[in-house]
Amino acid sequence: MGQRFYVETLGCPKNQVDSDKLVGTLLADGMTATDDASAADLVVVNTCAFIEEARKESIDTILALEEQRKDGARIVVTGCMAERYGAELAEALPEVDQVAGFGVPVNVPAGKKLIPVSTAPIPTLDLLNLPRPKSASPWAYVKIAEGCDRSCGFCAIPSFRGPQRSRDVSSILAEVEQLEAKEIVLVAQDLASYGKDRPDELGAGSIVPLVQAVSGLVPWTRLLYLYPSDLTDELIDAILASNVPYFDLSLQHVSKPLLRRMRRWGDGQRFLQRIADIRQRDPQAAFRSNFIVGYPGETEEDHDQLLAFVEEAQLDWCGFFAYSPEDGTYAMDLDGTVDPHLMNERLAELREMQDDITAARSDATIGDTLTVLVDEPGVARSTREAPEIDGIVEVPTHLAVGEFHQVRVVDAMGPDRVADSL
Ligand code: SF4
Repeated sequence: MGQRFYVETLGCPKNQVDSDKLVGTLLADGMTATDDASAADLVVVNTCAFIEEARKESIDTILALEEQRKDGARIVVTGCMAERYGAELAEALPEVDQVAGFGVPVNVPAGKKLIPVSTAPIPTLDLLNLPRPKSASPWAYVKIAEGCDRSCGFCAIPSFRGPQRSRDVSSILAEVEQLEAKEIVLVAQDLASYGKDRPDELGAGSIVPLVQAVSGLVPWTRLLYLYPSDLTDELIDAILASNVPYFDLSLQHVSKPLLRRMRRWGDGQRFLQRIADIRQRDPQAAFRSNFIVGYPGETEEDHDQLLAFVEEAQLDWCGFFAYSPEDGTYAMDLDGTVDPHLMNERLAELREMQDDITAARSDATIGDTLTVLVDEPGVARSTREAPEIDGIVEVPTHLAVGEFHQVRVVDAMGPDRVADSL
């Protein structure tokens, strides 16, 4: 039997895309995949370094897989944590055979064997342009750019992922075709800035032509992570025309002074106005956003503004995250640290309010007819639910996987809904 590999992926959707590409190159090298880590000759852990908790999970996973691996199997650590803390990781984990950055064997410590993850030529643009196998599920993420040109106070991503590099439209479209998925989910660190680093080449620095082109190839095109200042009328039109009226707005807070301390654009009033504009154009539009709670200097007044916003905006989905200080970020040096107990109280208050809103919005759809895409037997989603992020629609198990079906909502339980076929 040939060499077998096992890939474990941690972290965000963007990491899943990197893993898919890694799998593509390993398959192209003649290796076969296994889902049993103890049977693999090569174990790859694609790590996440976003916050302390994610780093801990990455280390725990590496150690667990290290114990399970069979004699002679190689273990390679890649992904954000390898990129950001490569030297420290290699030193702290002598069991690991190689610590490699994004698709490129970097940071190979002296005395350690260099194990090329692939013998394919090393790409110049991270893993962005590597081949990818056909999608195993009816939906697939497609990463359209790497890096970020912004400098949000809390975020370390630009410091280790580098400035934005947008992919060619043609390579993105080729990948979309290869995947043969019914739904394509476009991702990047800062999606709406796609093309700005190449203004003369890619649709004059706008994502709109790309969204239109992808929507021409697949039934559903979904966009994740939109920085609010770039949500132009043209982009809203393109999203509404893509058959997925879903707006994932990366807001982070609503208090203007706090947003400036975060080195970000906007304020609650502008956000509410934009949301109202979109709802006016399409009352069915679904919204998601993320907020950071307890950023240095967040006052009671800032928090009250956020609560009032959440109440008024009635978004379908919201994530609230505790601020976590990250090395090398602007916020590390800010005063006004928020007490962890207070931070947790604020988080609980916001989450409770949003859980009720999400549940009420789901309840309000009982009796509605929906088009759903069935991801696996009995589990489907409408345009309102992003895969792996939002809730699901439970459907009868006889509905064919990978197909669209018309269903009627008969019940709702928190974020999830139950539907019968028509
Ligand atoms: S949070 Fe800000 S700096 Fe970090 S990736 Fe997103 S837009 Fe870029």
